[in-house]
Amino acid sequence: MKLIEKVLDAIFPPDVTCLSCGREAVLNQTGLCRDCEVGVERFVSAPIIEKTDGYTAVYIYNDVSGRMVKKLKYNNAKYIAKRLADQIELPDEWKIDAAVPVPLHKRRVFKRGYNQSELIAKHLCRRTGIKLDTKLLKRTVDTKQQARLSLAGRMRNLKGAFKASPECAGKKLLLIDDVRTSGATIRECASELKNAGCVKVYAATVCLVKEDKGGSV
Ligand SMILES: [Zn+2]
Repeated sequence: MKLIEKVLDAIFPPDVTCLSCGREAVLNQTGLCRDCEVGVERFVSAPIIEKTDGYTAVYIYNDVSGRMVKKLKYNNAKYIAKRLADQIELPDEWKIDAAVPVPLHKRRVFKRGYNQSELIAKHLCRRTGIKLDTKLLKRTVDTKQQARLSLAGRMRNLKGAFKASPECAGKKLLLIDDVRTSGATIRECASELKNAGCVKVYAATVCLVKEDKGGSV
């Protein structure tokens, strides 16, 4: 953390304001004010993504959870990553060798300064003792933004975008991402990991987008 950020955090502690709406208020354990607590929708279950062996999330994507993810992603609010990661609960039956954040292309990391999924994974690993491994999967193509693409378009856009290391062979891995929209990104990552010899690929995201025009996989 840069010195200026440390100083600013000391003067204006980020955690006394609601993680979603940013107002100063009495916060619950997850860092939300009363209004946002009422507005948040918890994840219950979702269809498994093709090529994966299990899926979990924390929130359904809506105004409240969406604001947190956007702040983490675009407003440099890195402190949110830990609070979100603290809420990811992994099923006991998942035996995981390492957690792998969905990689960003190095050009995008350079522009943003960090990979938000890697920050979430780092905090999850610290809490659970799972090993973090950012070398097993790389993004070799700087793909277009997916938001406006159909599901078929998303899958075409991602084809060949990731490269898994041969060291994946025999491993059981947990993919971490901030948001699951169509599932196309996780599907493509899992496919590449399994082609490299992974025996299990589980996936966890902070948010799940329930209704997506591109369909759900
Ligand atoms: Zn709030």
